[in-house]
Amino acid sequence: MKAADPIARLTVLLAKLPGVGEKTAQRLAFHILESPPEYARDLADALSSLEREVRLCSTCCNLTAQDPCGICADPQRDAKTICVVESVPDLLAVERTREFRGRYHVLHGALSPLDGIGPDQLKLKELLSRLHGDVQEVIVATDPTVEGEATALYLTRLIKPLGVRVTRIAQGMPMGGALEYADQVTLARALSGRREV
Ligand code: ZN
Repeated sequence: MKAADPIARLTVLLAKLPGVGEKTAQRLAFHILESPPEYARDLADALSSLEREVRLCSTCCNLTAQDPCGICADPQRDAKTICVVESVPDLLAVERTREFRGRYHVLHGALSPLDGIGPDQLKLKELLSRLHGDVQEVIVATDPTVEGEATALYLTRLIKPLGVRVTRIAQGMPMGGALEYADQVTLARALSGRREV
């Protein structure tokens, strides 16, 4: 099949998704082809609106179709507490616990010098610009990995001198694990057991 073949083209694109090999990609491509035509149109529309409509919240760097995002725009959410996470899936994991009623800040990564990810690659300036006025506590909810811990330490050193309380979610999260995949009870306990750093 040539790459110009629409089925081959779709297969190549689908095979780039995590966990999708070439065989699965081909199966999905044929499945889409055999589905009612509206499905392919809806799928194409959903994909192109990702590019067109989804952007970063200018306050918290969450992904959103409206700026500010729903959480930043919600007057019921406590503006005194900011929970810092590495990624949007991590934010969603904390939301699922229903234990947290503050605001968030998404770093879009963690410090990893070996991968060339330094402070400038993270949304740190955006975080620092929020730390005046109302904010009393920053909860660092980065992953319990080497990178997540390094990021937590860096944030602590950066934020504490500003007179803002910094807490770290409790251990008990499996080391090396990802926040995103932690079960709700473990994550809720880690949040409520957070400690001053
Ligand atoms: Zn936001």
